Amino acid sequence: QAKRQGRNTYQWYTEGLNKRVSGRVMLRNALQHAIDQQQFELHYQPQVHDATGRIIGFEALIRWHHPERGYILPAEFIGLAEDTGQIIPISEWVLRTACHDNVRLNALGFGEYVMAVNVSPMQFHRANFVPGILETLEKTGLAAPLLELELTENILMESTTKAIDILQTLRRLGISIALDDFGTGFSSLSYLKYLPIDKIKIDRSFIREVISDHRDAAIVQGIISMASQLQLKVLAEGVETQAHYAYLSKKMCDLYQGFYFARPMPINDLITFLHENQAASQLQQNDEHGSA
Ligand code: C2E
Ligand code: MG
Ligand code: MG
Ligand code: MG
Repeated sequence: QAKRQGRNTYQWYTEGLNKRVSGRVMLRNALQHAIDQQQFELHYQPQVHDATGRIIGFEALIRWHHPERGYILPAEFIGLAEDTGQIIPISEWVLRTACHDNVRLNALGFGEYVMAVNVSPMQFHRANFVPGILETLEKTGLAAPLLELELTENILMESTTKAIDILQTLRRLGISIALDDFGTGFSSLSYLKYLPIDKIKIDRSFIREVISDHRDAAIVQGIISMASQLQLKVLAEGVETQAHYAYLSKKMCDLYQGFYFARPMPINDLITFLHENQAASQLQQNDEHGSA
């Protein structure tokens, strides 16, 4: 009987495993189709400067526009794409599109914005990472200082000296580097001494309850003062309310990103948004100068 039970258990497990495996195979095939058919879109979320309230740039966030399922968020496919290597063609598309759209915004007369692009671990560790970026800047005509790369702590942990080399090269070219999801990795703080970076993005898990939870408040305050001492810019992710904004502003945070200011949006909506923003600040300026 025990044997029988054992076999049933075994069968049950293989069935579950098969289902999981075939789920992954199906997703991988669907992803390949999405790559071939160009079913991806970038949505852009504004980043706001504290003192002026001005938009200084955007983060490019990928969405899979599935013909039947609608928009699929990156959490559902980036991990698998990283495992299968499909992240490479996807990342190339992301970088090219984000740079291209930033050039387009500039050509439309909106001025200069910094475009932040998320970098995946596999992409970063490929031998041609830096040349690929240079080629994209050249092909799209985007100036290097208008590109920012967002990396997580985990990417930089793997081989620190090589990572530092790459970051130094990028920064010498004028590209800026942001440390994404700061505070969620398991790395020590000592690497902040050596890493050539420009900005720290405080993970939104610390922001959500920063007003009511004194532990989050302590961590956020700590990150802000450390960043300031290290002469790094600090950005708060996931700013959802006026209260978040007011609180963080009092704590001397430099930059903000979150639903309170704007949700990530397709390029055409962004253009409309920027037009309205421009009109609003024009009105405000006229008010300030007392135009009659
Ligand atoms: P991330 O880089 O930390 O991006 C910020 C995430 O926070 C985005 O989720 C954004 O939609 C969300 N967010 C922004 N403001 C708020 C807010 O006020 N409240 C809340 N609750 N969420 C907010 P999204 O777009 O689902 O992206 C998730 C992650 O997927 C990103 O986290 C990034 O790690 C990854 N990702 C996105 N696009 C790309 C890409 O093009 N390439 C790679 N390699 N990874 C990407
Ligand atoms: Mg990011
Ligand atoms: Mg982040
Ligand atoms: Mg995050």
